[in-house]
Amino acid sequence: MPQSDSERPHKRAKLDQKNPIENDGENDNDIGKHANDGETNRLSQVRNLYFNTINRHKLDFDFEKKCQVTLSKSNVYCCLVCGKYLQGRSPTSQAYLHSLDVNHHLFISFSTLKTFALPEGFEVKDHDGSLDDIKELISPAYTKDQVASLDKQTTTARDIDGNPYRPGFIGLNNVKGFNDYSNTVLLALGHIKAVRNYYLLNSFKDSFNQELGLFIRRMWSSKQFRPHISPAEIMRVVTEESKNRFNLTQQKTPRDFFLFLLHLMPHRVRKSFRGAAGGSSFLMIPLKLPRTTVFNDETPQINLQTLINQFEKDKPVKEAPRVLLLHFDRNQQDIQLDSVSGSAINNTIINFPQDLQFNQTYKLVANIVQDVVPGSSGEDTIAYKIQLYDKGRDQWLQIHDLKVQEIERELLFLHQSVLQVWERKI
Ligand SMILES: [Zn+2]
Repeated sequence: MPQSDSERPHKRAKLDQKNPIENDGENDNDIGKHANDGETNRLSQVRNLYFNTINRHKLDFDFEKKCQVTLSKSNVYCCLVCGKYLQGRSPTSQAYLHSLDVNHHLFISFSTLKTFALPEGFEVKDHDGSLDDIKELISPAYTKDQVASLDKQTTTARDIDGNPYRPGFIGLNNVKGFNDYSNTVLLALGHIKAVRNYYLLNSFKDSFNQELGLFIRRMWSSKQFRPHISPAEIMRVVTEESKNRFNLTQQKTPRDFFLFLLHLMPHRVRKSFRGAAGGSSFLMIPLKLPRTTVFNDETPQINLQTLINQFEKDKPVKEAPRVLLLHFDRNQQDIQLDSVSGSAINNTIINFPQDLQFNQTYKLVANIVQDVVPGSSGEDTIAYKIQLYDKGRDQWLQIHDLKVQEIERELLFLHQSVLQVWERKI
């Protein structure tokens, strides 16, 4: 990863003097025709003037890349002065008109990451990398070496206001108050090595995998302008793919969401989760908790290794997966105690070891937990949080939507685990 604490680039871009009117394929070759050699100096001055108008605080690339006026998704630019998404850049385009209307003159293309001055129409080259942070914000890119060293990184990055954050461990917006279930799963996916590394280094043709890839690339970026990102774009695609089964307005379970996403992923990624036991294959192992009742004096506890050993006894393992997904069903509404608050939820505490034995040895990387929040009208609601292992720093962080905090390893098991991700050690 690039040094995140380093100063942001501030030098001015240089105009490409050999080819100041380079066109990015749009059918508007006529613009910028006047930009001959004699005017290079003038254009250079114009460019420097324009660079001073860039307002990074206004730039937000969390939204769908479509023109805010025409709603078109092709050939969309972002105004670097006010952050608007506009189609451009021919003389009849929205970006061009915007440049004349409000005197905003620099536009970056979402598809090519090239920046243009309008209405002049010349491309502004930044050989000195002065726009690199903006390009990285739109579409972070990683080398193999950077990906290989991610888990050894200990650096703290800083957002545009100097606030510290830990790349990979960033908050996600809870857009309408119901999507903590999907936030936890998206964060978990970004921390499973077999998933993360594949998405950081590959590009995809279909919109789901494209968006998931972009999401994970942004999650690990050390050049964030804000210490959080929005899941709105990836969720928009998932809502479409799931025919509205999963969306931002209804809380679902992390289990169902995780399994749905697995089926949209490439086979190469999904097979990391596949194991075989008792004559059938699995992607996730459901583990049964002993039933609890409100008449228990103490919160019941159980050891995870005991649960796993019981599962193995019933279903001998033929193939241990690279990534072990464990699900604990805490819903016991069928025992009809739901007239008593909280009784429909199994509150058993699961004690889990550092290393789990399941044919092979596994390490915990993510623990999705639920909190039962008593509602004012007597209806309990559930809040989903995730606890993630920071391999570089050997510590645990808990993330609930935008809130990221350190958590003591010894306290992890006190929460109600619903889904755990374990990685095979070898
Ligand atoms: Zn603008």
